Amino acid sequence: MKALKEEGTPVVGIFCTYTPMEIIHAAGAAAVGLCGTSDVPIPFAEQHLPKNLCPLIKSSYGFAVSETCPYFYFSDLIVGETTCDGKKKMYELMGEMKDTHVLHLPQGQDKDHAFRYWREELVLLKQKLEEKFNIEITDEMLREEIKKSNEERRILMEFYELGKLDPSPITGVEINGTLEALGFQFDRPAQNALIAERTKELREKYEKELKGTKTNRPRILVTGCPVGGVREKVLKTIEDAGADIVAYENCGGVREKQTLVDETKDPIDALTEKYLNVSCSVMTPNPRRFEALDNMIDEYKIDGVIEVVLQACHTFAVEAHNVKKYVTEKKNKPYVYIETDYSKLDLGQIRTRIEAFLEMVKEDNTVEAAV
Ligand code: SF4
Ligand code: SF4
Repeated sequence: MKALKEEGTPVVGIFCTYTPMEIIHAAGAAAVGLCGTSDVPIPFAEQHLPKNLCPLIKSSYGFAVSETCPYFYFSDLIVGETTCDGKKKMYELMGEMKDTHVLHLPQGQDKDHAFRYWREELVLLKQKLEEKFNIEITDEMLREEIKKSNEERRILMEFYELGKLDPSPITGVEINGTLEALGFQFDRPAQNALIAERTKELREKYEKELKGTKTNRPRILVTGCPVGGVREKVLKTIEDAGADIVAYENCGGVREKQTLVDETKDPIDALTEKYLNVSCSVMTPNPRRFEALDNMIDEYKIDGVIEVVLQACHTFAVEAHNVKKYVTEKKNKPYVYIETDYSKLDLGQIRTRIEAFLEMVKEDNTVEAAV
């Protein structure tokens, strides 16, 4: 990133899947994800923010306020969004440290004015980037970026879809870790080549070593909040306890990747449509998440669903009631809800709950096989 800055490339720090990356890239800027995944800076954040706030917000703010994140340091502009209350109020404080532009997100997707409102927000972002970086962003530039991002989405979907293979040739911890690392690689063609190469290697591994073999490891879908900050505590524990995470229905998983941006429409219209349809629990109602869960449970041949909710994330916590009902009653699959933060204090308790859940999933599988 330092090298990029020295070459004169502007840097935009972002936090959310609703951020239309194509507009940032069309401005000639590099985008870097600033969502905190460590508990180390949280005490710094708690000097300004309440303790009972989502760890992702506290960690992100803590990195900024303690000046320990080089990516925040190098960012010329922060683009936030009014997704949840904690984040949108945190951006006000962050705005005292850096130039911060906040996208105002509609509360739902289906009313006609939601499209017009969100489109206007995208136009305002485009204007902000033009002024900030002294550049004119043309439709042609946007079209070019839409094509490039669609190509990236196709490559990433092929990587994710390795999880559809049975047995899966990749661990869920690797899927999550690889994708997070990509957020800090700024050579996009090199990044695409790396992912395509790893996908090819793993497909070959499946063909040569795994195809036709059987495993008793349950196939797990992880849903809920972003899980980069609990990779060791929750994801690794699930896999160490004898299951394979084969799919993620969350940010950092397929949530944004599976739908491409329409390349035939007016580019701002197409981006508006695409990003408005992200199926996060901040939308009310949020039917697209249930459609995604429905399809993924079938396509990835899921045996059980683990919902991971970060402490004080109200939208995912409340929506969990209906997710549980949907998974257990409509899809007839076992479900468990895990609420946690970035500390290690509840590691033992989480391990016990996950082990008990996986025992139940295995018993379920045995009964199904016998029937
Ligand atoms: S979970 Fe929702 S609010 Fe958080 S990054 Fe994803 S889309 Fe944004
Ligand atoms: S996990 Fe929930 S509370 Fe935390 S930033 Fe995302 S939407 Fe907000």
